Amino acid sequence: MTRRRISIFGSTGSIGGNTVELLMHQGGAEAYDVVALTGASNIALLAEQARALRAGIAVTADPNRGAELAAALAGSGIASAAGQEALLEAAARPADWVMSAIVGSAGLAPGLCAARNGGMLALANKESLVCAGALLMDTCAAHGTTLLPVDSEHSAIFQALNGEDHGALERLLLTASGGPFRNKSRAEMAAMTPAQAVAHPNWDMGARISVDSATMFNKALEIIEAHVLFGVPPEKIEVVVHPQSIIHSMVGFADGSIMAQLGPADMRGAIGFALNHPARAALPVERLDFAALATLTFEAEDPVRFPALRLAREVLAAGGLSGAVLNAAKEAALDAFLAGRIGFLDMAALVEAALDSIGAEAASKRQGISLGDVMHYDRKAREFGNAWVAARRV
Ligand code: NAD
Ligand code: MG
Repeated sequence: MTRRRISIFGSTGSIGGNTVELLMHQGGAEAYDVVALTGASNIALLAEQARALRAGIAVTADPNRGAELAAALAGSGIASAAGQEALLEAAARPADWVMSAIVGSAGLAPGLCAARNGGMLALANKESLVCAGALLMDTCAAHGTTLLPVDSEHSAIFQALNGEDHGALERLLLTASGGPFRNKSRAEMAAMTPAQAVAHPNWDMGARISVDSATMFNKALEIIEAHVLFGVPPEKIEVVVHPQSIIHSMVGFADGSIMAQLGPADMRGAIGFALNHPARAALPVERLDFAALATLTFEAEDPVRFPALRLAREVLAAGGLSGAVLNAAKEAALDAFLAGRIGFLDMAALVEAALDSIGAEAASKRQGISLGDVMHYDRKAREFGNAWVAARRV
């Protein structure tokens, strides 16, 4: 059997690192032909991963770190490159399975390159579906590329839909842990620091998505992601708060039956599912012990304390490129919060202001959408966000 060609975009992050670990667990360089690995600032880790997997090329997105990466790979025979163009060139290299795990809308352009490969595109980068859902889906369809969701909720829905009558789908139930501030009042949330927001109760994730879980912008993005991936109308997508994060999501059918996917709160489950699809390989994850778990609980979502959920539904109703505005404004807000420039509740306020200001114009852009159109609204929303933050601080 020929070895599958694999690339990982964002290999040095939380999802990327777990993907590297699973590849090593499943035979590493003996079992796979690793085409490209990419990172940004953690050069030492990128070089270590490239050596361990004997990658064809390692690329850092940081144009100033090329010499450092080359030095770290000296004597290995592994090629290296730096900067955005090198990243896109690596993304265009033929591969059978690509993990898209760069964080933020920076993952869109490499994801689109990989979508033209005709293989499997394992998508952790939900932001690319939020800001350019139709563009990414159409590109995959045009090139026969299979899109496999890696977000745990969407992997769960994908699994629950397997072999089912899609015409009888009645609703999607996205589970949400509720994040670290699930029981906090708005007044308490106002005082929360980045360190408190990053500390997720169940999942060990990158800093940015952890803060997104605290604001519930993560779930907001996931509502839009589910709509794009599964073609389900917004009114059939529900959010249910499930603090234990054991049920990863559910699908309800016309006969009242619910199919749920359960597992430990460990992203290696969803990554491994996508890596081995359509087979299921033994994964080094904990097995659920139901007697020890004892209780699974559920609560209604609260769009008043967590306005992100309401904003996602407004974006779905508006359509067009309003998702690009929501996503980029959210990224600008997150940068400002992590830098201590705005408070926790200001993040949703900034996103709402950006949507009020440029959302309608972006929503009117519906046909023939290009990467350039998406990046235009991405840039506009960031500029709006930065100006909003600056005005706040007078
Ligand atoms: P992370 O911050 O841990 O890693 C991000 C990766 O992207 C790193 O390799 C980093 O070097 C790279 N990167 C950052 N900025 C870049 C840029 N401008 N250009 C190129 N590369 C850049 O993030 P993560 O938690 O692994 O999340 C990755 C993606 O997966 C995100 O889209 C996130 O929403 C999604 N996701 C993550 C989890 C999780 O458990 N961590 C779960 C579901 C979905
Ligand atoms: Mg998720």
